[in-house]
Amino acid sequence: MTTRFATRRIYTRPGKINNASGDFVCDCCGTFVSVHVALSGVGNRNHCPYCLASRHMDQFEPGDRLSACKAPMHPIGLTFKRTAKKYRGHQPGELMLVHQCEGCGKVSINRIAADDDIEAILSVLEQSADLDRDTRALLERERVMLLDTDQHDLVRHCLLGIHFADAWQE
Ligand SMILES: [Zn+2]
Ligand SMILES: [Zn+2]
Repeated sequence: MTTRFATRRIYTRPGKINNASGDFVCDCCGTFVSVHVALSGVGNRNHCPYCLASRHMDQFEPGDRLSACKAPMHPIGLTFKRTAKKYRGHQPGELMLVHQCEGCGKVSINRIAADDDIEAILSVLEQSADLDRDTRALLERERVMLLDTDQHDLVRHCLLGIHFADAWQE
């Protein structure tokens, strides 16, 4: 038996993941963000709850932190998670944030956390109307269907659902 790989890597540079639990200081708005599951309601908090900015940390799956990119990722729109079950009555899939990396252009779909700012999410929806043609084409290739900007009420409804579900668990 060997213990060669037992050492955990701990990031200490400012703006980087700064402890083993993954808490971080947002590069975009400077807020300290705790990844504690009791606050966010999700197991993998990967974006700031105030400005919704993220970093390109993951390569293959959420939380793997294998990407070498590490550039900021900004929310560019909202989408519904595609589910394996095609027909779920009137229930749409889970509302998700679409992030794009400033450095390499990678698009990723992320769960919205219970403490994410509702107004910030709604303004992402509004701003997604201004996406350029290239970004739209990229999303189409990635098969990400953005929500229409007039779906405010639906989004609000979904967000309240996320907050309510969180309160219910306490
Ligand atoms: Zn922030
Ligand atoms: Zn990147």
